[in-house]
Amino acid sequence: MNHINISIINQFPQAFEKSLIAVIVTQENVDFLKSLWKNFPQNPEIFTKEKSISIQPNENECIVFQGYQHFKDLEPEKFRQHIFGWVTRLNKMEFENLYIYFPGIENHPQSKLLIRSIAEVPILSNYQYIHLKTKKEWNSLKNVYFVTENLNWENELNIATNVAKSTCIARDLVNDPPNLLDSVILSQKAIELGKKFGFRVEVFEKSRIESLKMGGLLSVNLGSKVPPTFSILEWKPEHPKNDKPIVLVGKGITFDTGGLSLKPFDAMSTMKCDMAGAAAVLGAMCAITSNNLPYHVIGLIPSTDNRPGENAYTPNDVITIYDGTTVEVLNTDAEGRLILADALAFANQYEPELIIDLATLTGAAVVAVGDMAIAMMSTANHDVTEQIIKAGFEVHERMVQFPLWDEYKELIKSDIADLKNVGPRSGGAITAAKFLQHFVKYPWIHLDIAGPAFLNSPDSYRGKNGTGVGVRLLYHFLETYEHWNKSQN
Ligand SMILES: [Zn+2]
Repeated sequence: MNHINISIINQFPQAFEKSLIAVIVTQENVDFLKSLWKNFPQNPEIFTKEKSISIQPNENECIVFQGYQHFKDLEPEKFRQHIFGWVTRLNKMEFENLYIYFPGIENHPQSKLLIRSIAEVPILSNYQYIHLKTKKEWNSLKNVYFVTENLNWENELNIATNVAKSTCIARDLVNDPPNLLDSVILSQKAIELGKKFGFRVEVFEKSRIESLKMGGLLSVNLGSKVPPTFSILEWKPEHPKNDKPIVLVGKGITFDTGGLSLKPFDAMSTMKCDMAGAAAVLGAMCAITSNNLPYHVIGLIPSTDNRPGENAYTPNDVITIYDGTTVEVLNTDAEGRLILADALAFANQYEPELIIDLATLTGAAVVAVGDMAIAMMSTANHDVTEQIIKAGFEVHERMVQFPLWDEYKELIKSDIADLKNVGPRSGGAITAAKFLQHFVKYPWIHLDIAGPAFLNSPDSYRGKNGTGVGVRLLYHFLETYEHWNKSQN
């Protein structure tokens, strides 16, 4: 990850060095800007339409005037897209400094989100995973300056910087190749991140997982050479706003071949991303702790790879999950739900306020919503569910809610065990969730991130390959939801 400094300054420097200066023009601030800029573009379109005009007074400066009609026309995501455009352009010009000037930004109804974008989008847009290349070509962007009279925004910039960096940590984990990130290394990285950011980490090794009888995780691991791990992360600030913890569960399949139900090669080619749920949980823990969020949060990460080694678990096997449920395996490629079943059943002992799991769980979720959305299912109450949907829109990690009707459960009943691990092809994202629901005894939100976790072609500040989806969402959701149960004593 390359480092960018994000800071606030209250006036422009006398002279610019290799700088792109972005100025936001609306009908509300155009007169003020005209009075300020002697070479302000005379073109009226700039503030009557969404349009940008750029001037290059000398080889060290490029000024971009970005017009919007009114403050209200500026949705946070539109602003983010423009910031991504400026960063891209700046890097192309091999400039180092980005100045963003938006007089009146504090009058925007979503000013906080806009200001956070000023830190978050350059970091996300400038993300590179190139440390394995022998010749590293780093982007040129080094400094982002938010020009404003109001220095109080510094706190918002810091918060956003921490969240964006945590998203990049999740991206790194997803992009790490499977020979450099197996279940054991993932647990070691969790310990390192815990030390660095201040959350507690305990790792169960194979013997402990065996004594706990986590039959899902152990069965999936049978074909592997690397032992499974089960990592428990915990952040408990001094006076948490929630009495009972929020438990985050992340699927940590470090590589998914499908096992004996082997995937075709094209479907296998991106399967290092099958631990993106685990990466999101780790990234979220980093973001939560670095910003000192006043919530008690626990993260659970069951991890193994899924391979067809000689001892590999087999279709028709019946295995026993941590809570005693028996499962008939019909497809060894439906392994994520087996390791999550152990983790979700394990989560019940905390009597949590809420459980959220994140998993690259089903191809069916990708078929349904592509890489533009998370397939979400929820047993949490209406307020909580609405809040996570709203948070998803606000950070643009949007979700579509699917039902958890009882009829779907009929589709995963086994002839010889309590459940089978796959239903029919249709409704696959929902039957996978119904399978998980069997193990959960507390309010629960399921986020199937199979679509947006990994992109084969670049998309704006989400980049290419691992996106770190879930980190910004979880952080923003926890930060904005206020109504956790709190005893009145
Ligand atoms: Zn699989």
